[in-house]
Order: sequence, then structure tokens, then C-alpha cells
Amino acid sequence: LMFGKARTCNIVTVPEHEPSECNIVILGAMGSGKSALTVKFLTKRFISEYDPKLEDTYSSEEVVDQQQVLVKVMDTADQDGPVNCERYLGWANAFIIVYSIDNRSSFEACQQYLETVTLYSKGLQPEAPVILLGNKVDMERYRQVSKADGAALALRFGCLFFEVSACLDFLSVQHIFHEAVREVRRE
Ligand code: GDP
Ligand code: MG
Repeated sequence: LMFGKARTCNIVTVPEHEPSECNIVILGAMGSGKSALTVKFLTKRFISEYDPKLEDTYSSEEVVDQQQVLVKVMDTADQDGPVNCERYLGWANAFIIVYSIDNRSSFEACQQYLETVTLYSKGLQPEAPVILLGNKVDMERYRQVSKADGAALALRFGCLFFEVSACLDFLSVQHIFHEAVREVRRE
């Protein structure tokens, strides 16, 4: 009986929890490369001069693991740490917190963002994934933050950790954003 039913039924079922949209907010100190990373992800190009005060949200139709998703990226432009967080806390499905590996103070600024975001996210059902991201690995010679320091901070806040460069290959930048989508799907 069950066999007969299965053969005549051609409906493709998509699990209902699979989100077709994913809102990602990029946070971090000025100059850490948030806009460069966002622009690289969206256009495959590295734009070296980007208005540091410009905050905007961009959309891109992506295919992640054979599934379509509309990724929206809010490229923030905070000048003094996590203020007016309401504008993104409720909106975001995932958070990427960026520092520059050649700038110790940008790394220290991440802690405040991690505190704000993880405190908020822990109260959510499902939790919103958080990624700590060390940018500018092409500046290895001027490194001020070791990979171990980045990994330790991520471990402390229970988030993912990557290092990348907005001016090197596109695929490794794309990978970060796609990992955020995968994490959201997993939640
Ligand atoms: P934001 O304030 O976080 O949005 O930072 P921007 O994206 O505007 O970048 C700040 C500066 O760092 C600019 O001069 C960029 O050209 C530069 N920059 C951004 N990403 C990288 C990177 O991966 N490597 C290097 N060498 N410079 C970068
Ligand atoms: Mg910017």
C-alpha cells in the first residue's frame, strides 16, 4: 500500500526550516576591512578606497550546497564600538566580527562586539551563529595578533574563527559568508 502511494507522489519536499534568506551583519573596528570584505564577496573585486562612514545593506542571490539563498549583508560603520545595536541585533541571522591581524586594538575591539552579540544571541531560539574573522593575512609581516590569540578568543565565546584577506583570492572570502549560511541552516 505504501509503495503505491510513494510511486505516484512526485512532490519534492523541502524541509520547512531551511531559510531562503540569510541576513548577515559585519561588525568591527573602523579600518578592519569590513567594506573591503563585503565588496569582495559581492563583486569579486578588491576596492581599496571605500567611504569609511558608509553603512549599507546589500543583497546577493547565492547557491550554497546546491540550495538557493538570498544573502543580505549589512556592512556597518561604527565609529565608537557597539552603539545603536538595535538596528542589527533583531535583523541578523548571523554575525561576522572582523579585526585586522596587523592591528592589536582592532582585535581588542572585537571583545565588546562578541559580548554584545553573544549575550543577545544566547537568548534566541535558534541561536544566531557568530564568526570571528581576522582579516588582512596578506600583511603577515606586520602581524600583531597571532592566530592562536584569535582562536582562543573565539573559543572563549564559542564562535567560529577564520583568517582571510580581502585582497587575495575571492573563494576564501566567499567561503566565510557561505559558512555563515551553513551555520544558520544548521541551527
Ligand atoms: P572598514 O572601515 O572596516 O569598512 O574597512 P575598509 O574596508 O574601508 O578598509 C580599511 C582599509 O584597509 C582600506 O585602506 C582597505 O584598502 C584596507 N584593507 C581592507 N582589507 C584589506 C586586506 O585584506 N589587506 C590589506 N592589505 N588591506 C586591506
Ligand atoms: Mg566600511
